Amino acid sequence: MVHRSEETPHMREKQGIDPEFTYRMPQGNMEQHHCSTVVVSCIDFRFREANDAFIEKGLGEKNFDTLNYPGGGKSFASDGPERELLADKIEQVCVDLHDVKRIVIMNHWDCGGYGGSGHFHSPDEEEETYRSDLEKAREYLKTRFPNLEIVAVYNKPDGEDLKYRVLEEAAEEEAA
Ligand SMILES: [Zn+2]
Repeated sequence: MVHRSEETPHMREKQGIDPEFTYRMPQGNMEQHHCSTVVVSCIDFRFREANDAFIEKGLGEKNFDTLNYPGGGKSFASDGPERELLADKIEQVCVDLHDVKRIVIMNHWDCGGYGGSGHFHSPDEEEETYRSDLEKAREYLKTRFPNLEIVAVYNKPDGEDLKYRVLEEAAEEEAA
């Protein structure tokens, strides 16, 4: 018999599993096979609800694929096997099967993929790094998926709020 005071959070979590849990699927959900957007964001649990709220209310997107990988948009900013792997999965599943027309790449504040906010000398440097990486990521994805819209976004704290910033399409007009 375990004393309450000796319980660890882990043990309490285990006792909390509901073996009868069921979920009522929204009507017609199982019959849908297409969605318009895939969202690539970091795995960080702190931003899950906020990011979903931004996609649903800030972008007006209810049905979207999600791909979570440490660093989010950072994954596409530099050459390497992980960006090829993620792009392959987007192509095979999101584009070929789900017929998405848009890729949303997200970065978030204090991202462990960058060593956290403490890794930067200032908030300005942190913000500039996210913007710069998202630009590189968008360039790569535009080349890889020329027919898709690429939306790049990051968030930044403002008091107790998180502000979401969508990068403008500055280089769009130059495309030949
Ligand atoms: Zn992160």
